[in-house]
Amino acid sequence: MSGTKLYEGKAKILFTTDDPNILLSQYKDDATAFNALKKGTIANKGEMNCAIASHIFQYLEANGIATHFISQVSPNEMQVAAVKILAIEVVVRNIAAGSICKRLGLEKGQTLNEPLVEFFYKNDDLGDPLITEDHIAMLELATPDQVSQLRKLALDINHHLQAFFEQCNLTLVDFKVEIGANYQGKLLLADEISPDTCRLWDKNIADPSDRIMDKDRFRQDLGKIAEAYQEVTKRVLAVKIPIHP
Ligand code: UDP
Repeated sequence: MSGTKLYEGKAKILFTTDDPNILLSQYKDDATAFNALKKGTIANKGEMNCAIASHIFQYLEANGIATHFISQVSPNEMQVAAVKILAIEVVVRNIAAGSICKRLGLEKGQTLNEPLVEFFYKNDDLGDPLITEDHIAMLELATPDQVSQLRKLALDINHHLQAFFEQCNLTLVDFKVEIGANYQGKLLLADEISPDTCRLWDKNIADPSDRIMDKDRFRQDLGKIAEAYQEVTKRVLAVKIPIHP
């Protein structure tokens, strides 16, 4: 049963539950890009992303990553731990694509020597600008200790997600995560992990447009958007979740 609406974002709605430490996250079919300048819907995206995120959260938990996931309670709803989301978007990149190509003049598709961690200020009015650790301290978005935890957590998540998507025959190009602190101050992976938040390239396809299996199909009007999400859902759900260590 849904409680009161706490917050409506671009892709999800958060509801309260009877338990103050548990929230209900409802995934929507709405898709936005370019700071919501481009809007649309992707058929059944809510259910697909909820299924994908639930599976990936369980996989990460089984690999020792603390997440906000509690359980999937309907096709497009999951129960999650209530957390205070840090106003920082953490991006990890394995291959250059998207904003880093424009910003630093890197060639799209260039493999980076080491996974790269970037921090962005979660602020729609400012267009989510790239920020440094000193900006984070100045704006008091997180403590220096939390920033080191964020970096380590992001790289650990990347390590496990790369292995996960390898099993799906997909290359993990880059992804964004949001991290929240629970009532004990412990940092948990929150929000979602899905083709909305990851760049995924099909390893079997060489063509640079055809291989795109994520929200870039929507951003760039490449067509076959729902089909790509369906294919990712099928491959993700086929990955076995290891027994919890
Ligand atoms: N990303 C996201 N939400 C955002 C911005 C980026 O989920 O508000 C994801 C995006 O899908 C990609 C990664 O973060 O997987 C890096 O995005 P980038 O900085 O290249 O920005 P973009 O090219 O998407 O504007």
